[in-house]
Amino acid sequence: MGTKYSVFSVLRESMRGHAGWTPAWRDAVPEKNYDVVIVGGGGHGLATAHYLAKHHNVGRIAVLEKGWLGNGSIGRNTTIIRSNYLLPGNLPFYELSMKLWEGLEQDINYNAMVSQRGVLNIFHSDAQRDAYARRGNAMRLHGIDAELLDLAALKKMVPYLDYDNARFPIQGALLQRRGGTVRHDAVAWGYARAADGRGVDIIQNCEVTGIRIEDGAAAGVETTRGTIGAKKIGLACAGNSSRVAALAGIRLPIESHALQAFVSEAVKPLIDNVITFGAGHFYISQSDKGGLVFGGDIDGYNSYAARGNLPTIEDVCEGGMALMPMLGRARLVRHWGGIMDMTMDGSPIIDFSPVKNLYLNAGWCYGGFKATPASGFCFAHLIARDEPHEVARAYRLDRFARGMVIDEKGVGAQPNLH
Ligand SMILES: Cc1cc2nc3c(=O)[nH]c(=O)nc-3n(C[C@H](O)[C@H](O)[C@H](O)COP(=O)(O)OP(=O)(O)OC[C@H]3O[C@@H](n4cnc5c(N)ncnc54)[C@H](O)[C@@H]3O)c2cc1C
Repeated sequence: MGTKYSVFSVLRESMRGHAGWTPAWRDAVPEKNYDVVIVGGGGHGLATAHYLAKHHNVGRIAVLEKGWLGNGSIGRNTTIIRSNYLLPGNLPFYELSMKLWEGLEQDINYNAMVSQRGVLNIFHSDAQRDAYARRGNAMRLHGIDAELLDLAALKKMVPYLDYDNARFPIQGALLQRRGGTVRHDAVAWGYARAADGRGVDIIQNCEVTGIRIEDGAAAGVETTRGTIGAKKIGLACAGNSSRVAALAGIRLPIESHALQAFVSEAVKPLIDNVITFGAGHFYISQSDKGGLVFGGDIDGYNSYAARGNLPTIEDVCEGGMALMPMLGRARLVRHWGGIMDMTMDGSPIIDFSPVKNLYLNAGWCYGGFKATPASGFCFAHLIARDEPHEVARAYRLDRFARGMVIDEKGVGAQPNLH
């Protein structure tokens, strides 16, 4: 590990012109063989490498990234973390993630700006209140914090919502105080630095173009930087999961879609929490720089392009205006898109693949950022021990064939195939 980050190192460097800082991670050159190769240097791949190196004695590890670290959804999301799920397949997993977020900065010696500012899910009808009460009860039964706010309590906390809206009357909210935001790209950099410090080779500009299979088992990868042998290979390619799995002849129950994010000009501190609109798909928080960060639904067509389209922008802005009409006064300064690997039940896959020694981490849909620590933790466990971690046991690939879907939204499969 390079310099340990601390108040003392900041003071020391400030007195000598910051000449002593070392690169956050080495620019590793690929070796011929590794014990474990992780494909994809996004949040999940880097977290996996960190926990593999920290907790499991698996030998030499490499992370292969086709672009630069943070180019994927880890650096494009709206930074929201929470564990306010309903179903038993999801609750323990996302709560493990929350607990790992709570200790992350000490663990990786990196300021990821973990901010537990509270996540509010607004409800607008009696039926939605009952559904949120049920979800809150499920959370509390699993030892997770949840509070149901009535209208008076919500008004006190966020007085600026449009409470007079006749079409979508606001009745209250489900609050998870431990939810919040984390600076997304710092998560990639922090995990990369920590993994590198434990000897992991992080190799950028190295696209995996083929998976070598010998006697029915994965044995290595073809890359734009040559062939690399591996005893075990973990795929953590998020939006590109189905394309990379197809290199091993595997067809995943996943569609890829674009999801867009938006940032307004900086304004004075206004929104203290994360707020989600219950009558449409819209969520908003305020960054520490002052920009209002918001998003909504995925673009409704399949795509591997990390950019979105105008009708979704209009839809997201309409959702925002219905909840907080004052948003119409703010200027939008940036927006971008990322690629979402959407499973048919909206829940992820952390599992063995049909090919021996090839492991799958995929299907994060638009909620995989909050899962980053637990995903890496559980994927590392699966790869090292060849058994699923107990909180990720439900995330099996064959659940779709067995009818054991984890349909958190209760809307059934939503394939977009024609
Ligand atoms: C606009 C937007 C808003 C979002 N908001 C939230 C949110 O608020 N909260 C939340 O929980 N989640 C959110 N998400 C979802 C979350 O960001 C993703 O689910 C998660 O980041 C995916 O995991 P990852 O970080 O590993 O993905 P990525 O960062 O995309 O990593 C995958 C990596 O694999 C690499 N790769 C692909 N193919 C190859 C190949 N052949 N060879 C080598 N490397 C390859 C890619 O270049 C990429 O770097 C959002 C996503 C977007 C786009």
